[in-house]
Amino acid sequence: MLDCAIIGGGPAGLTAGLYATRGGLKNVTLFEKGLPGGQITQSSEIENYPGFFDHTKSGMDFMDSWQNQCFHFGLKHQMDEVVNIEKNGEYFKINILGKEPVSAKTVIVCTGSTPKKASIKGKDEFFGRGVSTCATCDGFFYKNKEVAVLGGGDTALEEAYYLSNICSKVYVIHRRDTFRAAPSTVERVQKKENIELMLNSHVIEITGDNTGVNGLVIQDADKGQKSLNILGVFVFVGHNVNNNVLKQADGKFLCDTNNQGQIITNLKMHTSVEGLFVAGDIRIDAPKQVICAASDGAVAALEVISYLQERS
Ligand code: FAD
Ligand code: NAP
Repeated sequence: MLDCAIIGGGPAGLTAGLYATRGGLKNVTLFEKGLPGGQITQSSEIENYPGFFDHTKSGMDFMDSWQNQCFHFGLKHQMDEVVNIEKNGEYFKINILGKEPVSAKTVIVCTGSTPKKASIKGKDEFFGRGVSTCATCDGFFYKNKEVAVLGGGDTALEEAYYLSNICSKVYVIHRRDTFRAAPSTVERVQKKENIELMLNSHVIEITGDNTGVNGLVIQDADKGQKSLNILGVFVFVGHNVNNNVLKQADGKFLCDTNNQGQIITNLKMHTSVEGLFVAGDIRIDAPKQVICAASDGAVAALEVISYLQERS
């Protein structure tokens, strides 16, 4: 029986593990379906985490040191995908893909979020063959070539800037004429000579052949339809929370959610179910920042320790 099962090994889950084990819990396992680190490992840079200010380092470099520190105090790591979590009486049952279930007294769900794929004709057909949601992973394939970036948030603009240092030209296609991204990021992108902003524009089709993407059909609100000959398109149109682990056999969620599927918590990361905590991007009102996810993880772990102490 685990004292605490932590699901997801991004900034929230790793920090929860650090605080739980350093706080004296002996039997804590972090379940992560991939390599620990979370979404930020897909980022080409991170410049808003205090104490870490190095433009030459990627999100992957940044998360590298977290793992050693978080596993140092006895946190166990299982590279497994959790299918779902049930509560039977006082305890939780963690159902794991291809393995026997594990029981736990408490659970902290830190499964974060996944990039959305806009509903554009061609995006599924050409995904991985010119359509990407990761500039650090795929940008190099378009060295000295023209690419397009879709979206107007922080991710789209930061990754467009990153791509502009590899590619000959980057078209940023955004459906409005103002951006959701931070003003400093917008300014940096506007100043970059090989980035062209295409505002009030919608991609209506990604075209291609058996070699992959070869262009886009774009609807511009003022100028009508036009096409762009590019081989790569990077889609950054937001994220969906990974809440499937909380879905039950009857299709309902184990705890309360809002209408976007985000988990409802209080400031102590308690959900509507006793012993079940969440942390990071999966919760309501998450600022979707590494520092905030890490803070949530610490709060959740401290609450787990109190919860177990009250019951011992
Ligand atoms: P995540 O980082 O999403 O981690 C969740 C983990 O859970 C993942 O590792 C996933 O594999 C695992 N998981 C999911 N489901 C399961 C399952 N069923 N079983 C087992 N494991 C599972 N924030 C900043 O502060 N500064 C930035 O500069 C910045 N840049 C960003 C750039 C990009 C490209 C992106 C995508 C995000 C960026 N963010 C940035 C946001 C930041 O990365 C997130 O807010 C943060 O990673 C959220 O942490 P988390 O631990 O809640 O979730
Ligand atoms: P986001 O902020 O939700 O932005 C998504 C963008 O995609 C918006 O500009 C949106 O347009 C556009 N969009 C959504 N659906 C679309 C569609 N179907 N077709 C075309 N465009 C569409 O997502 P994000 O940029 O991934 O950021 C997610 C969170 O992580 C944010 O809270 C962000 O601040 C944070 N983050 C922070 C940093 C940082 O701190 N440096 C870096 C990356 C991410 P509209 O604007 O018109 O809605």
